[in-house]
Amino acid sequence: MVAYENHCAGCDILGMSCIGASCVNRRVPVFYCDRVGCPAHTEGAERLFIVAGMHLCLDCLMDISERNGIDPEDLIESEVEV
Ligand SMILES: [Zn+2]
Ligand SMILES: [Zn+2]
Repeated sequence: MVAYENHCAGCDILGMSCIGASCVNRRVPVFYCDRVGCPAHTEGAERLFIVAGMHLCLDCLMDISERNGIDPEDLIESEVEV
């Protein structure tokens, strides 16, 4: 899944109050793998791929590809773009 999280800290560090809704750090996309037990499920992934309707990180994509003997390219429905 893709969660939008408030990562604004920079405004405070710079001694300014947050500029508000237009602050880009207020809505930072964070990619989480949908596969329970995967580290990226709780810590976030760099990229997410849509496989069988699930959002999977690259590690899970490669794992599933290997286990099933299917080319990763054939598993990917699309990549999540933000
Ligand atoms: Zn801010
Ligand atoms: Zn994963």
